[in-house]
Amino acid sequence: MSLIQRFFTFLMPRRWAEAMEAESREWMLICPKCGHERSVWDAGGVRWKARSVGKRVLQRCVSCGENGWARLERKPRGTKAT
Ligand SMILES: [Zn+2]
Repeated sequence: MSLIQRFFTFLMPRRWAEAMEAESREWMLICPKCGHERSVWDAGGVRWKARSVGKRVLQRCVSCGENGWARLERKPRGTKAT
């Protein structure tokens, strides 16, 4: 976990922390260059109770190594990823 993830999970009751992690895993950062997707949680971030869609985040893609403005999209899943 990243520092910010530790910070939030330390402060929150466990069920809140679990909900926050689950929601952060549904938010995907999508590379504009190669289309690679990874979750906000995997990128070391936290996204919770946020509703904006289509926001762009400057990131370095782990797949192609390019810096770019990744699209941020929520992709709900039926099962919780581990
Ligand atoms: Zn990429």
